[in-house]
Amino acid sequence: MEYRRLGRTGLMVSEIGFGCEWLEHATRETVQEVVDRATELGINIMDCWMSDPAVRSNLGDAIVGDRDRWYVQGHIGSTWDGGQYVRTRDVEKCKVAFDDLLERFHTDHMDLGMVHYVDSPAEFERAMGGAYGDYVRELRSQGVIRSIGMSTHNPITGTMAIESGDVDMLLFSVNPAYDMKPASEDIETLFGDYGDEANAMDRDRMELYRMAEANDVGITVMKCFAGSRLLDPDRSPFGVALTPAQCIHYALTRPAVASVLLGYRSLADLEEDAAYETATPEERDYATALATAPEHPVSGLCTYCGHCAPCTVGIDIAQVNKFYDLAEVQVSKGHELPELVRDHYRALGVTADACIGCGACEPRCPFGVHIMERMVQASRLFG
Ligand code: SF4
Ligand code: SF4
Repeated sequence: MEYRRLGRTGLMVSEIGFGCEWLEHATRETVQEVVDRATELGINIMDCWMSDPAVRSNLGDAIVGDRDRWYVQGHIGSTWDGGQYVRTRDVEKCKVAFDDLLERFHTDHMDLGMVHYVDSPAEFERAMGGAYGDYVRELRSQGVIRSIGMSTHNPITGTMAIESGDVDMLLFSVNPAYDMKPASEDIETLFGDYGDEANAMDRDRMELYRMAEANDVGITVMKCFAGSRLLDPDRSPFGVALTPAQCIHYALTRPAVASVLLGYRSLADLEEDAAYETATPEERDYATALATAPEHPVSGLCTYCGHCAPCTVGIDIAQVNKFYDLAEVQVSKGHELPELVRDHYRALGVTADACIGCGACEPRCPFGVHIMERMVQASRLFG
């Protein structure tokens, strides 16, 4: 298992994580079996957004002897009312539900206290500007939550949260279908007609990735398979099925992403997704599949896939492009070149100014990126 730093939380999390909602109606034995195998595989981060007491207890009991090796994302505002999940910012109800989570996990803290499911800027302002936000910050100051996170599907809300300085990490939905210009902001109708802008990457989402990396806000990923649509050729918006390894690799190559949280109903699901760790570069290659897909190919935009390697003089072209994109969005808004991005760029062994314009890389790019031009632009920007 490979581990990555989850931004400024400083936690080293497994790149394959554990989203537990598929176990909501599983037996106690199944939960224990899947958790035990996940532990053996080196998975060390799980998300429990669910408020159902039964699944909370099953998960808490399953890791009780191992609590210290797991990082848990516990949600604040996911409550259980009348036998049903209810999302609320009512502080008294949030307290009852969060105390219940701690008790069922046999613990006195959550590593990541998640501001639960905020999908509009207005809701973010209401929540964090009121008593709910005070409660979340108080939990952190008391050490009951070690870092503040937030779950969202909305990139504008996510970017606002990053800019506020309130959140240390995000749980965000990431996959290539969502990254393309969506037909709608509504998560339920995201797969409508893409229209004339089919080739555009969604700028709000690109901005969120860039801001997250620039502010050292780590991302854990949900909906990596777009609710399994990407695994089905008939439902995939690209007109072709991707494999789990391709989807996972796409998510893990986005800026700031540290872990992809996947749902496992059974050991078979877990083994299939964890096989990413031993997959070959060819098996992980989402780029060829997307570039040749019958629908919505991404053209002229770097997806950081690395297909253009090797560079004649040893430039890591994907990394240069990633840092260029991160910095350019700030500079184009009149801000200073972000120090963190500049440091990352400088830490590359060979930088863009070393490009000799040989052109060897461009035919290898499946997305038609003008790499030589990009190297000149990056060299100018970083100086
Ligand atoms: S054109 Fe530049 S970036 Fe591309 S292979 Fe040649 S030296 Fe490397
Ligand atoms: S330039 Fe092309 S091949 Fe290279 S990382 Fe970007 S998209 Fe991939």
